[in-house]
Amino acid sequence: LKLILSGIQPTGIPHIGNFLGALSNWASLQHTANVNDNLLYAIVDLHALTVPQDPRQLRKNKLDMTIALLACGIDPKRSIIFEQSKIPAHSECAWILSCITPVGWLSRMTQWKVKSQQNKKIQSVEDIDSTSGSCLGLFAYPVLQAADILLYKATHIPIGEDNIQHLELTRDIALKINKLYKKDIFPIPQSILAPAKRVMSLRDSSKKMSKSDPSELSRINLDDTPSEIISKIKKATTDSIKGITYDPVERPAIANLITIYAAIKEVAIEEIVKEYSNSNAQQFKEALAQVLIEKLTPVRNEIEKLKIDSDYVQQVLKDGNEKASLLANKNLDELYNLCGLK
Ligand code: ATP
Ligand code: MG
Repeated sequence: LKLILSGIQPTGIPHIGNFLGALSNWASLQHTANVNDNLLYAIVDLHALTVPQDPRQLRKNKLDMTIALLACGIDPKRSIIFEQSKIPAHSECAWILSCITPVGWLSRMTQWKVKSQQNKKIQSVEDIDSTSGSCLGLFAYPVLQAADILLYKATHIPIGEDNIQHLELTRDIALKINKLYKKDIFPIPQSILAPAKRVMSLRDSSKKMSKSDPSELSRINLDDTPSEIISKIKKATTDSIKGITYDPVERPAIANLITIYAAIKEVAIEEIVKEYSNSNAQQFKEALAQVLIEKLTPVRNEIEKLKIDSDYVQQVLKDGNEKASLLANKNLDELYNLCGLK
């Protein structure tokens, strides 16, 4: 029996990186998994707090994210869609895991190294209003991520490449707990990766596409209009080399656009390169914009439709939270028992 689980932060409208790297896998697993396998997809709002958030915006983002998941084809009759913070067991489990996780394991995390480097300014107590500087949560959140997974005894985790290192940490934590209590409490979770596991920014092909990138031009969002798609793809950086060839090292920007095209059309990269071998970058971009418009128009229409039915969206979350709570509380109880809290 599999338990498939993944999460997304309510930090904005998902983009084609989230879609190709994670969400499209989430949706297709509903059909390829066994009927008895559980699928759980979380809106991980506690993770969103690791960077400053406006409370009203965060509330709105959570609903918008739920709508986006439904519009991508996550079916609440098949999958449990839930809000992380509504299930206190996540935080409770994270505490127990953090008590057995060596600090050294966390300081090796690349995301911590990158993000803490960006907020280098050191906070003092006098600086209480400052929102810069790295918080303990930013350092510790991979343990909360481990709790999100282990709390459900999840076996398969569909994620993008940027989360592989954190999943490895989760595996190490699971192994350590199993060894500590001499019992196979947690299965060791495996990742499920999509062909487009790392879609890069349209403005800077050395950075991954992200919801939190300040530049709107860096990404295509799932609710972008056709004219926004055309203009963002037109402005995407390329290079001065002639023609269309796939070379991630020498031509990372073009390689990224080819990867997006191939993933959207679900065909091999070589096929796309062959098809456009006689085209220039501008012609290829025009074709790519059309392919994206074709794929995203039904998603955007569905988003618009669901926006006017917020009662339904709220109900989906309420039902999902109840179902996830049952699974989570049972497993937390077992963990409490093992460590002597119960
Ligand atoms: P943020 O900038 O707020 O961290 P994000 O775009 O990185 O947002 P997350 O909510 O952190 O999105 O991640 C949701 C899922 O999407 C994760 O499984 C993550 O691995 C995947 N993902 C994120 N960005 C990309 C990308 N550029 N390419 C492929 N997959 C991605
Ligand atoms: Mg992220």
